[in-house]
Amino acid sequence: MAEYLTTIGLEVHAQLRTASKMFCGCPAETHGAAAAGPNTLTCPICLGMPGTLPTVNAQAIELGLRTALALHCTISPFSKFDRKNYHYPDLMKGYQISQYDLPLATDGWLDVPLAGGSQRVGIIRVHLEEDTARLLHRTEAEGPVSLIDVNRAGVPLMEIVSAPDITSPDEAVAYLVELRRILQYIGASTGNMEEGSFRCDANVSVRPLGQQAYGTRTEIKNMNSFRAVRRALEYEVPRQIAVIEGGGRVVQETRGWSDERAVTVSQRSKEEAHDYRYFPEPDLPPLTFTPVQIEAVRDALPELPTARRERMVAAYGLSRDDADLLTDARPVADYYEAAVAAAQASGPAQPERARSLANFVIHDLLKQVPDPAQISTLPLGPANLAELVALVEEGVITISQARALVPELAQSGDHPRQVVAARGLAQIRDTGALEQAVAEAIAANPKAVADYLGGKTSAAKSLIGPVMRATGGKANSQLVQAILQTHLDALARQRAGDDAPGAPAL
Ligand code: ZN
Ligand code: MN
Repeated sequence: MAEYLTTIGLEVHAQLRTASKMFCGCPAETHGAAAAGPNTLTCPICLGMPGTLPTVNAQAIELGLRTALALHCTISPFSKFDRKNYHYPDLMKGYQISQYDLPLATDGWLDVPLAGGSQRVGIIRVHLEEDTARLLHRTEAEGPVSLIDVNRAGVPLMEIVSAPDITSPDEAVAYLVELRRILQYIGASTGNMEEGSFRCDANVSVRPLGQQAYGTRTEIKNMNSFRAVRRALEYEVPRQIAVIEGGGRVVQETRGWSDERAVTVSQRSKEEAHDYRYFPEPDLPPLTFTPVQIEAVRDALPELPTARRERMVAAYGLSRDDADLLTDARPVADYYEAAVAAAQASGPAQPERARSLANFVIHDLLKQVPDPAQISTLPLGPANLAELVALVEEGVITISQARALVPELAQSGDHPRQVVAARGLAQIRDTGALEQAVAEAIAANPKAVADYLGGKTSAAKSLIGPVMRATGGKANSQLVQAILQTHLDALARQRAGDDAPGAPAL
């Protein structure tokens, strides 16, 4: 069998985080409690009534520009909206307002982090458009019915088209993960796939190694999770190879991914652009941007995930894995850096402290929230976490005591220092109290002492337990060992005379 090259290009539709829809004043948030029911978030414009006039949502344009710049695209100084005509019940007007030959931005790139480095994937274009209504197909007693919910019609969408630079299902998923992360970092989209706020279609083709021309491609739709994208591509690539190996030809068509059956299924032959009879939208003015406007948007961009990851490794001495975990969601990175800032406000900057905070965030704090992005909602804020770590650093409590306190502090939001004081959790560092507990342990365990002095050094360890028990586990263990050693040294000298060497070390 010949070797094959896989070529994948991805088209992402992301819902923009705006208050209102793309061309009318209806709310754009149509999930959950926002809508009282189907068809409640509508108006004559998004219902497609004749004679209504759309107006462009300025926030959607701002978010589109932000995305385009984060993806290193060139913003078109002049772009326009077009009508994409097709007849389907999810389109109220009989056309979708989109952008065709003059999109908002073109020619960018995205560096996709991969295990062995990174892969640059070109971005062909970023354009703005409106979402369609949602259709619900059901089977009722009298037969199949299709219901229509117009709430989603007119919600602002951004379409991001990658170049065919992706060569495997792994790379495709890594691209989507990084793209979604960027959109979330810059506040352009929630990226929520289950709610359909981040949807992806994949163009896939294969060709024998050595062949220059791309093979015939299929377009895969209906993948509702990263896992579905991976599975669909892992199915489609060998399917196309098998068609070619069997002497057949891949048909250019749209195929739907069936998650239950784990196959892609032919849906319809691919339409060409001329099928849509694109023409300029006469009711909307073109979009024009000056270099000053574009630079203002660029200046307001937050630090992007890759840059932040690298800066955090350098600034805090974090491992790459830890930096990956901390920068995966921006709220986690924000929380962590706020905790570092709070810790440094109360003492000199120390790499151990920054790493200790990282460990608490990764291993303890993230366990307290179902979704990492919710870390900012925890009553245990960054300043309180810094205080908890300071208590460990000062030797007031042990690290395991601190970790045990996290679930409770996470919910109560109480100050760690107050909780430790109120509960009497502080370790006993008062040497007087420890001297007495050690003396009592020695007096109560003559056998262990005799064994130890007879050369069985491990016997001394059995004296530590009674001291810890006598102090309710709150004794500082290093201090106990040091005091015990002093006492045993003294006993050894008594027994052997003053010129004898000390007892063996514990
Ligand atoms: Zn409306
Ligand atoms: Mn589109």
